[in-house]
Amino acid sequence: MTWHRGVEIKSERELSGMRRAGRVNALALAAAVDLARPGVTTAEIDAAAAAVLRQHGAEPAFLNYPGPYPYPAVTTVSVNDELVHGIPGPRRLAEGDIVSIDCGAVVDGFVGDSALTVGVGRISAEAQSLIDVTLGSLQAGIAEMRPGRRTGDVSAAIQAYVEGHGFSVTREYTGHGVGRHMHEDPQVPNYGVAGKGVVLRPGLTIALEPMVLAGGPETHVLDDAWTVVSRDGRLTAHFEHTVAVTAGGPMILTALEESMLEGRPAWYTEYFAGLLRTPVERASWAEGARKA
Ligand code: MG
Ligand code: MG
Repeated sequence: MTWHRGVEIKSERELSGMRRAGRVNALALAAAVDLARPGVTTAEIDAAAAAVLRQHGAEPAFLNYPGPYPYPAVTTVSVNDELVHGIPGPRRLAEGDIVSIDCGAVVDGFVGDSALTVGVGRISAEAQSLIDVTLGSLQAGIAEMRPGRRTGDVSAAIQAYVEGHGFSVTREYTGHGVGRHMHEDPQVPNYGVAGKGVVLRPGLTIALEPMVLAGGPETHVLDDAWTVVSRDGRLTAHFEHTVAVTAGGPMILTALEESMLEGRPAWYTEYFAGLLRTPVERASWAEGARKA
């Protein structure tokens, strides 16, 4: 797999391919989330997501991804102070944990990349606030994904939302272009300056992924050479969607259809349907597709 590629503009047909990959990835995350209960191991969470990818004929984008050594699992499952890249294993989730699950699916050569953080049983007020703010910052970033805006507008919106709520954004890990490769240009950090960066055009597809720390922004990597934790040991959260810029506004490629969300709690619908809290029109796949 190629490590990194330049900025690529996708045709409408390519966007349809990316939507198929994104939907399968959302289904894998949904299965993983359903399993996030006290006593379940992070390896079992990984297996649930892997089974969904297999069922849909999708290849896992993370497995064997190049790094300090080839990444050994289909998902990353990061608990509490683990920000990203937690390797699934025998750890059992406990009441009060918060768990971030990130997955990548390849369907017909296109990559879908998305992530979310959920609470295990009852969680603290701070943990809930961190989750809410991280999801809100993703929505604030998505709202900027419009033709003519710049990547710096997206980055600045995420940073302002997070810091406005008293939390920190990581400086070391960023959102990224995504398409036939999991990591393409442009990089979209979770901090930045409005008006700077790459101009957004219809057909650009970017995985936006605020990684938020309850304390300071500093991180370090554990001895397994993958797992990134907060240096101060405080909680962290991570939400991600793969989003296309279209003439009609942002199109969330890693969403689920609304018919699949009936009877689910509000936070679940808010993430998986990609509903926006910010004062812009909703960016469901159907609306975006009509205008594209
Ligand atoms: Mg991801
Ligand atoms: Mg990503």
